[in-house]
Amino acid sequence: MNNQDLLSRSLQSVWHPCTQMKQHEVYPLIPIQRGEGVWLYDADGKKYLDAVSSWWVNLFGHNNPRIKDAIKHQLDTLEHVMLAGFTHEPVVALSEQLAKLTGLGHAFYGSDGASATEIALKMSFHYWRNIGKTGKTRFISLQNSYHGETMGSLGVTDVAIFKDTYAPLLIQSAQVPSPDFRLAQAGESAEDFALRSAAQLEMYLAEHHAELAAFIIEPLVQCAAGMGMYHPVYLSKVREICTKYEVHLIADEIAVGFGRTGTMFACEQGNIKPDFICLSKGITGGYLPLSAVLTTDEIYQAFYHDSTVRGFLHSHSYTGNPLACSAAVATLAIFAADDVVEKNKAKSAAIVEKMQVLTDLPIQHLRHQGMIFAFDVLTQNARFSRQSYQAGVEQGLLLRPIGNTVYFMPPYTITEPEIDFMISATQRVVKAAL
Ligand SMILES: *Cc1c(COP(=O)(O)O)cnc(C)c1O
Repeated sequence: MNNQDLLSRSLQSVWHPCTQMKQHEVYPLIPIQRGEGVWLYDADGKKYLDAVSSWWVNLFGHNNPRIKDAIKHQLDTLEHVMLAGFTHEPVVALSEQLAKLTGLGHAFYGSDGASATEIALKMSFHYWRNIGKTGKTRFISLQNSYHGETMGSLGVTDVAIFKDTYAPLLIQSAQVPSPDFRLAQAGESAEDFALRSAAQLEMYLAEHHAELAAFIIEPLVQCAAGMGMYHPVYLSKVREICTKYEVHLIADEIAVGFGRTGTMFACEQGNIKPDFICLSKGITGGYLPLSAVLTTDEIYQAFYHDSTVRGFLHSHSYTGNPLACSAAVATLAIFAADDVVEKNKAKSAAIVEKMQVLTDLPIQHLRHQGMIFAFDVLTQNARFSRQSYQAGVEQGLLLRPIGNTVYFMPPYTITEPEIDFMISATQRVVKAAL
């Protein structure tokens, strides 16, 4: 099978995600044949360093032997069984371990991040109804937030290019000011800005709490907004304010969970426990689709009743899929065995130090949070994002800049020579696309 053939078959038969398909008249698809560590190999044997962890899902490299073995082992016993009325070892083991790590429990499973967001929103709404507070039906999120693209999750997302077209279909939600420190006033510290943003949230809740079910946020880093980072004091303030006004706090850790921000979960840095946590992406190390929502005993108890309709009657066909759960259990085993969160601290610091050479370029807001690194390029080129992506592909580097923000979210297994390559190739890419 030759390559050209595969590309044209793909364009004929596959509708690719987040893509204006007509652009593929100009920009070819890249046919990937195999992956190994941080590298993806195309059909001609050319390799690309996966600096975005294949849309933020991969943690320990492609073709990871430990995760692969766990899935193979599970394949020999049970590939799938429905989770209503049945259970199995991988889903129980995973739920117990996630409860231990998050301090929440009662894990409810979906397949993608967006389904986790939907589950948390529905559970929050249903909780208030079950306890008789039927007026609490609305949601708020941060300005520039991203929580997925199904109708419910898009309703609380605030990214115009994804949302505006579908606006008439969506649940109404309000946005409160983002604590992203790029939006701070000159001379204002990240902490002061976070406190000021929290005060604005409090003003909103003071007025509207009676109709609000929940506030959903991306803790510490608003990734899709272009890696907008903020001070952890915002999280502690938000927890206080939401408790005071009886509004649920939903932590969407779909992108930032599993060590990305320097702690296992980003909420730990604000020393807070949310009412719901949404997990996906890295949960299976990037192997299989899986998402989970965990919550408090108090919320769970409001559904526990003789009445069927007070229960959470929500399901997906592949809820709790054993293969995906076994990949997730193997992923958590790697965290424990390799002391990943601790070891990443030195790796993060080394990457930050090596990134200093990038300050020779016209950039601002060079920033990082754990294993997320970003900077904003000062350029008038309206096509910077597309051109830098293309220049990256030519250089053997998979970058996916968001507007003028270039970021790295590499697999945690990236080695020193690979880091050096990632940064030197990025210098060439940015210069080529200015
Ligand atoms: C990616 C993402 C989602 C949606 O997850 P999908 O698996 O793409 O549906 C939701 N929230 C955040 C913060 C994300 O980064």
